[in-house]
Amino acid sequence: MQIIFGPVNSRRFGTSLGIDLSPSAKQCNFDCLYCELAPTATVDKQTQVVEVNEIIKELKNHLSTKIDVITLTANGEPSLYPHLSQLIDEIDKIKNNTQTLILTNSAALVDEKVFNTLLKLDWVKLSLDAISSDIFKKIDRPHESIKIEEVVQKVQEFSKVYKGKLFIEILFVHGLNDTVEEVAKLNNILMTLNCTRIDLGTIDRPPAYPVMGISYKELHDISLMFNNSLPIHIASRVHAEPNNAYYSDDDILNTLDKRPLTMDDINLLFDEESKISLNRLINEEQIVKKRVGNLEFLIPHANIKRKRKN
Ligand code: SF4
Repeated sequence: MQIIFGPVNSRRFGTSLGIDLSPSAKQCNFDCLYCELAPTATVDKQTQVVEVNEIIKELKNHLSTKIDVITLTANGEPSLYPHLSQLIDEIDKIKNNTQTLILTNSAALVDEKVFNTLLKLDWVKLSLDAISSDIFKKIDRPHESIKIEEVVQKVQEFSKVYKGKLFIEILFVHGLNDTVEEVAKLNNILMTLNCTRIDLGTIDRPPAYPVMGISYKELHDISLMFNNSLPIHIASRVHAEPNNAYYSDDDILNTLDKRPLTMDDINLLFDEESKISLNRLINEEQIVKKRVGNLEFLIPHANIKRKRKN
């Protein structure tokens, strides 16, 4: 039974040492279509529980490696771990400057104890795949006790009081949450949140059920449907096919004004001539670099100070 894994190099969060809070079996309150684990009946609590002492003992053996973040994750949903609060307290005693992060599907935020426990972490990543109840049920196949309206309300409350870095992740499944209507609903909710970054992704690994992801081009098109003040990042590149199109100076400035991009995005979207123009615009300081979380975005100098009004 392996509790600690890594470190792995994650583009989004840096060098991460993972803690699996459900190492012996999948225990999750969702049964997502896109899960990389096998389909499993949902649960609302863990029945196979690892001791805090055991986790801390193993963690101490791995902490000598240089890492940026200790990531709480699971074969399933880590926020179902019943001793999460105590575990975070024990990690805080030994982590020094390392950040703590949880990757959660957000549903357990409706439990006040979990809500308050997550406030203690340095970074939190909340998933939010859909706002409409029927689409949420189709994609995430939640435990019968979970209502998306209540989850969304708790995500909003959490974003208001949380002091650390909050990341939101939306995973798009072809034909389900990639419609104009659902993106508009997601956009409306995202505009009410205080968050560091919003990662848009799609299916990157073999899914539990026969569903398809969307292409990088479709993800990019969806990213443009969101309000341009949102800190959107396209996190998925598995289905990326280089576009290599020509962008004039105006095109470059307009594109980055609508949606700041990373160099990885630029390499997929721009042809060589456009990249040379981009570098010139950077040298002329018409375009500047802005760090958001662990990633560097290019943004026109003219709108660097633009702030979203909540
Ligand atoms: S929440 Fe995560 S672990 Fe649970 S079913 Fe969905 S993808 Fe799998």
